[in-house]
Amino acid sequence: MSDDSQRWKAKYLESLEQQERQEKRWENRLDLLRRGLVRTSLAAEGSDKMVDQCMQELREIIRGDNLDAGLAGLIPRLEKAVLDSEHRRQQRSQANFSALATLARQLLDLQPPRDIRKALKRFAKEVERQAGNIAELPALLGELGSLQQQTFSLLGDVEQQRPGFLQRLFGPRENAGGAAEPLATAEPTSLPVASRAEQTAPLQQPDEQRPQAALSANTLDSLPLAASLLSGEGDDYALPASEPGYSAVAPHIAASLGKLLDELQLPSHHQALAADLRQRLGGTLNWYELVPALDDLAVLVLAVSDSGQREFAVYLSQLNERLASFLDTLNQAQEGYSESLLQTRSFNQELREQVSGLQNSVQQASDLDSLKRALETRLDGLLQTVSQHQRKRDEQEARVAERLQGLMGKVAEMEEQAAHFREHIEEQRQKALTDPLTGLPNRAGWNERLELEVARRQRYGGELLLAVLDVDHFKRINDGYGHLAGDKVLKIIAQELRKRTRKTDFLARFGGEEFVLLMPGTPLSGGQQLLETLRAAVAACPFHFKGEPLTITCSAGLTAFADNERSDQVFERADQALYQAKREGRDRLIVA
Ligand code: GH3
Ligand code: MG
Ligand code: MG
Repeated sequence: MSDDSQRWKAKYLESLEQQERQEKRWENRLDLLRRGLVRTSLAAEGSDKMVDQCMQELREIIRGDNLDAGLAGLIPRLEKAVLDSEHRRQQRSQANFSALATLARQLLDLQPPRDIRKALKRFAKEVERQAGNIAELPALLGELGSLQQQTFSLLGDVEQQRPGFLQRLFGPRENAGGAAEPLATAEPTSLPVASRAEQTAPLQQPDEQRPQAALSANTLDSLPLAASLLSGEGDDYALPASEPGYSAVAPHIAASLGKLLDELQLPSHHQALAADLRQRLGGTLNWYELVPALDDLAVLVLAVSDSGQREFAVYLSQLNERLASFLDTLNQAQEGYSESLLQTRSFNQELREQVSGLQNSVQQASDLDSLKRALETRLDGLLQTVSQHQRKRDEQEARVAERLQGLMGKVAEMEEQAAHFREHIEEQRQKALTDPLTGLPNRAGWNERLELEVARRQRYGGELLLAVLDVDHFKRINDGYGHLAGDKVLKIIAQELRKRTRKTDFLARFGGEEFVLLMPGTPLSGGQQLLETLRAAVAACPFHFKGEPLTITCSAGLTAFADNERSDQVFERADQALYQAKREGRDRLIVA
């Protein structure tokens, strides 16, 4: 792979990693936002009917898939609901403060002693000063309770028999229909004054009827007079304030249980029981009906957690299978992985990040659904990464295979060419070592073979003979019959000589009309005999020219290699023997 493509590849992998990280960050943020919104919506619930409805919708949107469109539709309504709620809250708050001021005035009208009067005036000023400051309301109520108690204790028992101001102001705890009348709620916005104002219309908002036991008790503690008045001393009260009647909380309990029931994602075989329970909760539950209703609800809750666990177990086994298949793919990918070390590292790094992302997702998941979604996404990412790399690897392998195929083709071609060249070179070498006229080895061939035979003899020992043959008066043939005739004579003599030499002998044309013969493993007498045969054969050749017979002879010098003798020395001795044969009349052999 070229440097350039390596660089682009590295860049590509880096950008993939960046994208992965960003996606992870966004997923985490989105998840946090979702959770934050759910918590906020739960916390915000109970303040206002419209806001509650929006919060309910908000949670449904968060759970659903179409977050953007859902929020776009909801947010304007939520804004309006919050503004309206705030407006109503302020109105109620003002009404509460003016009610407090009225109470203080009415106490003053009773002409209490001077110090109480002074305290009441100070209280009235404080109420005026804190107008709208809801946080101060409990303290102001506490102070008013104390002043009221002091006033009445001074005014005597008779006065205490009459309904107290709070009682007169707030009316009875329970109305004739048994509907709840709140004493105080989580927020001072639902103070009795406001509730009283709403009493003309039947109370239909379960959340507004919700009594907050802890705050009620605190409020009663700080309002001893109010507590005593509300604790059954008046004719209208059947139940002690410290233990509110079931009917006071029944609608709230029914609403809460109904909500809980709605939240449960029940398996189908539990739907019938749920429907029945929902119907019972919708009616008027009494103490005796509450217990079995709670039992049924407990059964359903257990069923949900059971089915959740089963679903989770199934999901885990699926996950396991997918991981196994992923591991398989990974193993396959790694088995056949033929890319560079760098690529392998980056692949592993990516996988590690994916797996650690998966781990994070699992740790951060708050419920089974989000866990499933996170795991699906992560697994898809993992499988995508693997298949992406698999694809790349396959592509690369295909490229490599193609290249390899090409290379193999080229290698085969080159081998063929090399063989051809070898043959050609051998051919050329043979040509270079061969005399074209006679077909015998030439002087170069002779030198090569001479060297070899000398080396062999030096190593293994044995006899080695060397002979030089020269055609007698060859010049005359050329001159008398022409060069072509001379060539033909040379060819025929060469054939005659070759015919009579052994395979182990080496005959060559040394040049012109001169021939040389090497005879390994041949005693001098044997060589002498051969050379005589050769000489006689040449002399016996039936040459003729234009019908005229022609006798051609040759002379030869023969010698044997002595120990450690150089080839040129031996040749020189043989050559000298040849010249001696020439000198002695030709057509003869001289052994040196
Ligand atoms: P001698 O008996 O002393 O050897 O006499 P000679 O004539 O054979 O010797 P010399 O060396 O004087 O002459 C050799 C001649 O052989 C000379 C040359 O023209 C001839 N000759 C050498 N090579 C060839 C060849 O390949 N073809 C032909 N036709 N003639 C050749
Ligand atoms: Mg010669
Ligand atoms: Mg000659």
